[in-house]
Amino acid sequence: MSTIDNNLTSFLDIASDSDFSIHNLPYGIFSETKDGAGNNKRRAGVAIGEHVLDLAVLETEGLLNLDNGPYFNQPTLNAFIDSGRDNWTKARKTIQTLLSNTNNSLCDNKDLQSKALFKQADVTMHLPVQVPGFTDFYSSKEHATNVGTMFRDPSNALLPNWTEMPVGYNGRASTVIVSGSDVIRPSGQLKPNADDRPIFSPCKRLDFELETAFVVGKNNNIGQPIAVDNAIDHIFGMVLLNDWSARDIQKWEYVPLGPFNAKTFASEVSPWIVTMDALAPFKTPCPTQEPKPLAYLNQKDSKNSYDINLSVELLPENADNATVVCETNFKYMYWSMAQQLTHHTITGCKVEVGDMMGSGTISGSTPDSYGSMLEIAWNATKPVTLKGGETRSFIEDGDTVIMKGYSEKDGIRVGFGEVRGKVLPALSFDFGE
Ligand code: MN
Repeated sequence: MSTIDNNLTSFLDIASDSDFSIHNLPYGIFSETKDGAGNNKRRAGVAIGEHVLDLAVLETEGLLNLDNGPYFNQPTLNAFIDSGRDNWTKARKTIQTLLSNTNNSLCDNKDLQSKALFKQADVTMHLPVQVPGFTDFYSSKEHATNVGTMFRDPSNALLPNWTEMPVGYNGRASTVIVSGSDVIRPSGQLKPNADDRPIFSPCKRLDFELETAFVVGKNNNIGQPIAVDNAIDHIFGMVLLNDWSARDIQKWEYVPLGPFNAKTFASEVSPWIVTMDALAPFKTPCPTQEPKPLAYLNQKDSKNSYDINLSVELLPENADNATVVCETNFKYMYWSMAQQLTHHTITGCKVEVGDMMGSGTISGSTPDSYGSMLEIAWNATKPVTLKGGETRSFIEDGDTVIMKGYSEKDGIRVGFGEVRGKVLPALSFDFGE
């Protein structure tokens, strides 16, 4: 489905700037909320305009019959994703038809609409998949160059392996959290430059990382790498990812084995998984790769990336307005998702349905497109002034970080919504003497 059918229209009123057009149909897990009157059971839905369409209801009513189903009256999407690409395609086509103005099963049935359509404002979104594994890559050349320039050597910013492979590390699946969750400022070991030994302290350099993550859609077997030209078939969809980072904890701990505690307190994702089918019309090439990658990473499809506009907003506690601190695009990423997945499995590592794989911080070439405060404020040497006059080099208690993303072409928009997280003060500890 790589072309856009401009004639496809929903019977629902959908704003032209809505992320959730009939061309999108991202999957999420929701429950009705708050007053306790509704159904608090978690189940699957798709976002359409301001609404959520309850897929469990469609299955019960016999309007969404997938092979070996049902799949949607459960608290994660793993079983549906694991059922395979044929079912993904069938579900997408069926849901698109039911929401269109050319089919009357839902369009003309007010009773069914009242059971199956909810306002997004009235539901709670949950983590869409059970996440067996979380991996984070480091695939933006601009980001890696900026960090290398600040902390190592401007004339030798990239380490020699960087242009040969998508560098990454295995993170913690257990700390993947959904948008709207609060983030407690982490505490740990910091090592002031002038001191011989570290101190225990709340993180003083708390940062966001603007990333996306892809959701693995198909297992491989242990010992059997995924070929790069098949890799896209192993990817179900994408979410936005704020890969919260404690820069000062990271600086002291990361040698020689890489990030550990600095990255395992919150990896926050947007609740709607935008499918690769929905993103297909926005395919675009990655930047030129020089040197040419080794054969196992050499992808035939040159349109191996996606044109996705990304932004970050910062909203201090009690501020009236958020300030946009970054605008960038996914297409700047040097390594493709297919190359990342192939490299991840090349030694025989098994990946599983629901695994999330972070892109790495996505920075563009100019300061207004840098994807972390570390880069935007250039290691605290150029603090950012926010709309209310406050300045920031890193994230402070009470601040909310909001990331958004969307693709747009020929008047058609496919968006991610947002990932939003607020920072709470560090816990107080009493370790005695
Ligand atoms: Mn990261």
